Amino acid sequence: MRILKGNPVSRGIALGKVYIYKAFKADVHESYFEAGKEDEFYKKYQDAVKTAEKELDSIITSMTGESPEKAKIFTAHVEILMDEEVEEGVKEMIYESRTMPDYAVDEIYTHFANLLEKAKDPLIAARAADLRDVRNRVLRILKGEKESNLSSLRENVIIVAHDLLPSDTATMDRNRVMGIITEVGGATSHTAIIARSYKIPALLGVADATAIMSNGDNVIMDALTGKVLLDPERETIKEYQEKLVEYIKEERETSQYLDKIPLVASGERFSVGLNVGNTDPDESYKYVDFVGLLRTEFVYMGSEHLPTEQEQFEAYRRVLANAMGNPVTLRTLDIGGDKTLRYMVMPKEDNPFLGNRALRFCLVHIDMFKTQLRAALRASAFGPLQIMFPMVGTMDDIRAAKAVVEQVKQDLRTEGIAFDEKIHVGIMIEIPSIGMIADMAAKEVDFASVGTNDLTQYLHAVDRMNPAIADYYQSMSPSMFRMLGRIFAEFNKAGKSISVCGELAGDHLGALVMFGLGLRKFSMNAANIGRVKRTLSLFTLEEAVNIAKNVQNLSSEAEVIAYVKAEVEKRS
Ligand code: PEP
Ligand code: MG
Repeated sequence: MRILKGNPVSRGIALGKVYIYKAFKADVHESYFEAGKEDEFYKKYQDAVKTAEKELDSIITSMTGESPEKAKIFTAHVEILMDEEVEEGVKEMIYESRTMPDYAVDEIYTHFANLLEKAKDPLIAARAADLRDVRNRVLRILKGEKESNLSSLRENVIIVAHDLLPSDTATMDRNRVMGIITEVGGATSHTAIIARSYKIPALLGVADATAIMSNGDNVIMDALTGKVLLDPERETIKEYQEKLVEYIKEERETSQYLDKIPLVASGERFSVGLNVGNTDPDESYKYVDFVGLLRTEFVYMGSEHLPTEQEQFEAYRRVLANAMGNPVTLRTLDIGGDKTLRYMVMPKEDNPFLGNRALRFCLVHIDMFKTQLRAALRASAFGPLQIMFPMVGTMDDIRAAKAVVEQVKQDLRTEGIAFDEKIHVGIMIEIPSIGMIADMAAKEVDFASVGTNDLTQYLHAVDRMNPAIADYYQSMSPSMFRMLGRIFAEFNKAGKSISVCGELAGDHLGALVMFGLGLRKFSMNAANIGRVKRTLSLFTLEEAVNIAKNVQNLSSEAEVIAYVKAEVEKRS
């Protein structure tokens, strides 16, 4: 059995046979025709456009009732097809340079697609895929080939492709597609968006998938943890069949909790927040009370240059708009460690996770830090934004960061630029040294959020990226819960807001223990909302407090997990 890794962009599990899908690949060469045939070749192009329009119209008609959203993609394709600049460009190449229609179409569409791709707005850049899609349609028609798509599959399959174009995903026979695996594509690509909306498990970025797998291969795709298992043994198949049944059952149950008010069985309320790393609108915003973590790295990492104040301001404003009046916790740049910026030279360090990372980096690159703070403060005039610093280790760190905020505020005041004068400023607690003096930190900040991902790494001295020591990385250890209990107690005592935005908040077992330890604010990825709301609703406050007390006296993480799991199962 071989295991391939990928990025799970649409959750789920699928077992089945591989169907390698290769979309039409245009083989276009630079070529010209002799003088006098201009009208003939222009007509050929116009006929191809007409046929393309007919094909698109019939796709739109077949989709309008069932999924108007998808139909819109093809309405946009018709607009591209009819676009005057495109039309003029092709016509000019045919009449003025006697270019063969296929070469002219390829040149003009590719030119515009490349331009779009350079757009700073990722949504506009993603439209380049639509242009290429329309280009391929016209080129295929010019070559006299029939439409080959995923709309008439004969059996249930897991599609494996280099990439899928919008027309592939939108026309595919989704009753037969059990999963999608592609070699390229990110979480905001068309494929990812459509897969999620159809609830088809999808793993993107699986390197060399089409070369390694063949038609008819048996595979298991685990789009919960990001794995493809090739040619699995009988035992593994059985194990995954059980996992699948469990997953379906759980999804059904937990999705009913999405829009419920988060309450435990004895009636106490808790808050659920969303962790966000882009500006896309998402229905999950409806199910939460706040954005507990806006990872601003996406603005920096998705750009070819250091993002300007205006670019950042616009991105943050968009997230505020998505949050519909709920508070948004903007975390300042957390670069270093495993994250680098391609346009910035970052000296190599022996221990980057213990190095010049996050706030430390920002305090050295003060202009960059100020630019981000200006953008954040300006955005705070448009909605409830709060600022949070990552990788805080000492009181000096807090004071230094706050001093920069004060300077930037003063600059804005002098320039007459609006911002929220009462903006809350807080810290992430992810280094044990600040956790140990949480009482002092609580006096110095408006709020804190615990980053359990890093707290586990630093408390247990385990590199979170190193798979060889993954067993040592224990977020549910008794020591973690003792540390967390201490932090929650100090912040609660000081009357300052405390939340958790690390993965442990989205783990229903971890969330239950933390509720018992006094936590009331849990910020997580969208996929975990229903499950956390459901599990906590099964326990009274007293029961959760008891569980939290007990886990701190167990002697290993394995014991903690087994114990809490058993408590949940008793009530499920
Ligand atoms: C964390 O460390 O728990 C956290 C939320 O931050 P990140 O995962 O981005 O380091
Ligand atoms: Mg962190």
